[in-house]
Amino acid sequence: SSDELLVQAIRDNDPLTALADSEAGPLRRLAAVLSAGRAAIDRKADVEQVLWDMWQASGLQQRWLRLSERGGSLGRQADAELDAVVALFHAAATYADRLPQEGVDGFADYLLSQRIAGDSLAPSAVTSAGVELTTAHGAAGREWTVVAVPAVQEGSWPDLRPRGSLLGVERLVDVLSGVDADTVSAIAPVLAEERRLFHVACSRARSRLLVSACAGDDEQPSRFIDELGVELVEVTSSAGQAVQRPLVLSRLVGELRAAVCDEQADPGRRRRAARQLARLAAARVPGAHPDSWYGLAEPSTDRPLAGPDEQLTVSPSTVDLLDRCPLRWLLERHGGTDPAQLAAVTGSLVHWLAQRAADGATVEQLRKELDTAWRKLDVGAPWFARRERERVHHMLDAFLEWLRRSRDQLTELAVEFDITVELPPAADGVQRVRIRGRVDRLEKDGSGRQVVVDIKTSKSPVSAQEAAEHTQLATYQLAVWLSGGEPGGGQLLYLAKPDKKTGAGKVVSQPPLDEQGRQEWLHRVRSAARAGVGPVYVARASTDCGRCPVRACCPLQPEGRQVPS
Ligand code: SF4
Repeated sequence: SSDELLVQAIRDNDPLTALADSEAGPLRRLAAVLSAGRAAIDRKADVEQVLWDMWQASGLQQRWLRLSERGGSLGRQADAELDAVVALFHAAATYADRLPQEGVDGFADYLLSQRIAGDSLAPSAVTSAGVELTTAHGAAGREWTVVAVPAVQEGSWPDLRPRGSLLGVERLVDVLSGVDADTVSAIAPVLAEERRLFHVACSRARSRLLVSACAGDDEQPSRFIDELGVELVEVTSSAGQAVQRPLVLSRLVGELRAAVCDEQADPGRRRRAARQLARLAAARVPGAHPDSWYGLAEPSTDRPLAGPDEQLTVSPSTVDLLDRCPLRWLLERHGGTDPAQLAAVTGSLVHWLAQRAADGATVEQLRKELDTAWRKLDVGAPWFARRERERVHHMLDAFLEWLRRSRDQLTELAVEFDITVELPPAADGVQRVRIRGRVDRLEKDGSGRQVVVDIKTSKSPVSAQEAAEHTQLATYQLAVWLSGGEPGGGQLLYLAKPDKKTGAGKVVSQPPLDEQGRQEWLHRVRSAARAGVGPVYVARASTDCGRCPVRACCPLQPEGRQVPS
């Protein structure tokens, strides 16, 4: 294609003699810029030097400066181009400071991975009109007709939090210079610098300066405001004074809804608000139609999800969730979680690799298959994707090491083994319950008993006590027993936390279910299955609530209280 021909011509330094100078000129200049960059990379120059050589070779500096000085639309365009170049150099300098060992490739990756341009403190061209937002540092040396310095609050101006470099080099310099940290205040220079910055910001105005701050129970104006030596104008907002509504549609809808629902309000006002809401609802403005208001809709049904004659099917993970909190199970089951979470994808990948290992795949094959599968995943930023892939590689190593070491005690019976068993009928004869699940690995111990192995990719193993009560393992053990096998216990195999000495995945075991345990778990599985039928779903608070993905809809949580319970 023509694109490929162009790339080839530029890369091979083709003199392009077949073209007229006016046509070949831009290409030759571009080739010269790339060639300067290539030469700098070959002599192992750092990122900033490579950029500088390319910029010099471009010859654009004088041209854009001339256009900028001349002004007009071309001048503004040149200003924007120069700003972009300055920002690029600034980004390169910051990148080189942070990652001095990285080269041009890394910098290019970094730039390409930016979804939005990184914040830059690099100076930019002055625009002729409009409002400019800048920091006190950015305002130094410049002037505007009107300057507003908002939110001058004590605590943020001055901001007296201790600061310095990550490694505290400035303290080392103090020690070497003989400065005694016990007698010299570390705060004083910070306060002086904050005061200087405030004066820089306030001295930028040619004709008018506005400084504002709030005074309330929790916040106070900065001490610097007194130092301005001007009389303060107090603007109060009392309960009787109407606060202006921001010009945002959602706030308008909220105000109209409040007016409509206020039974004490003037009926005429309520009618007018209802008319406006109807107009917004007709225009499909979110939140305007009463159908979408919290708490107004009637329940669509109060019938349970299954009748007394229907069979209930639960998986061990469902039993676990229902046992912990039926409401969470209901909300998660109906769209409350993101099924494409990275942890779930990584988990599936590791399980698949474990299965391939059981099929006899060699270590090299497994690594290759992992890399191939990984390339097809959208894992996010390149540095994060690299780290996660390393993590999965380590989990694979931990699994293979566990497999090698455990063969003395365990013999593989099945991998990714589907199991379906029916519980004996309950005494009340209502609702038969069936367990259906997939065991990661089913092994046989030295006594011929069946051991359930559940592979985990989470980073925090449970304690031995928690493992003894682990619902999923116990439900699998129950299923083994109901299918005619002799349960030999369960193992949670944590691959993200390998044993430090052996490198094998960490195992936390559950003892074999005895007769009493079987009866107890029969009862718990039945109760969990029935809790999933509804129509009432209990919110059961526990230590899991902090990580619960549906807490915003839970009436036990402050953020979920608006949901009628
Ligand atoms: S926050 Fe706690 S009680 Fe509420 S749904 Fe989640 S787990 Fe259940």
